[in-house]
Amino acid sequence: MTSSIPAANSAAPLLDVQDLQVNFVNGRLVTPAVRGISFQLGKEKLAIVGESGSGKSTVGRALLQLHPRSAQVTAQRMQFGDVDLLRATPAQMRAIRGKRISMIMQDPKYSLNPVVRVGEQIAEAWRSHHPGQREVARQRAMEMLEVVQVRDPGRIYQCYPHEISGGQGQRVMIAMMLITDPELLIADEPTSALDVSVRLQVLALLDDLVKQRGLGLIFISHDINLVRRFCDRVLVMYAGRVVESLAASELDQAQHPYTQGLLAALPDMDLRRARLPVLQRQASWLQP
Ligand code: ADP
Repeated sequence: MTSSIPAANSAAPLLDVQDLQVNFVNGRLVTPAVRGISFQLGKEKLAIVGESGSGKSTVGRALLQLHPRSAQVTAQRMQFGDVDLLRATPAQMRAIRGKRISMIMQDPKYSLNPVVRVGEQIAEAWRSHHPGQREVARQRAMEMLEVVQVRDPGRIYQCYPHEISGGQGQRVMIAMMLITDPELLIADEPTSALDVSVRLQVLALLDDLVKQRGLGLIFISHDINLVRRFCDRVLVMYAGRVVESLAASELDQAQHPYTQGLLAALPDMDLRRARLPVLQRQASWLQP
């Protein structure tokens, strides 16, 4: 089912995507990565879930025009508030990226600059959209470190990325992405690189901040059981298509065999099973 999937509780959606297609073109070889997906997003937490290679990250990157040159992106509509993302110029996209739409990536190790103190990097995220405001930026960066609940923000401000833990690094990334008060946050597997205990703390923090600030969130994950606890709605992607869209609270009643397979393919501590079922895939699911 790829017809329009309306945003929950929203008259005018924050984001309206209709028939998004992304092909990677390498000479004569064309790889369809996203095959015509449509959805709307309000001020809510929307998960995009599917196994590796299903096209989740490509959707996130296409929204921000962060795809490589080999990607051909087409859509009937890709509207973010008053901005037509399909026709936005590079200058308009620079003004939107990191300000109105922010993206948190999987591993802070690769997203933070190793030779710049983390506090400076958070301040720089503010300054890049408010040039010249050096002192305001420093103060706001300190405030953001408190908002993301790092212990001893003054000390962390002065640290280089290798001097802080993975969990602190991801809190720093969240501070950096939220300092400009974006309307939309795209989080691409934001906790996959973290230990399980830290993962839950960072998720709880992200959840609180999204609620407090009234943001729209697109949460990209391969872990359907994680998103069911955390998100309002779930889009299930298989090989570039949305095969099912439903409220997270309705996942138990999922109709599509792929969604049922994803739910069944995860181990459950309370359920003793000799063997996990193998995830089934069928070519017919690729038909529009
Ligand atoms: P996911 O985020 O669900 O793991 P991706 O969006 O990263 O999936 O990838 C979707 C498909 O697009 C995969 O088949 C992947 O190999 C292909 N792909 C992603 N990036 C590129 C690229 N730069 N060049 C060619 N193919 C790519």
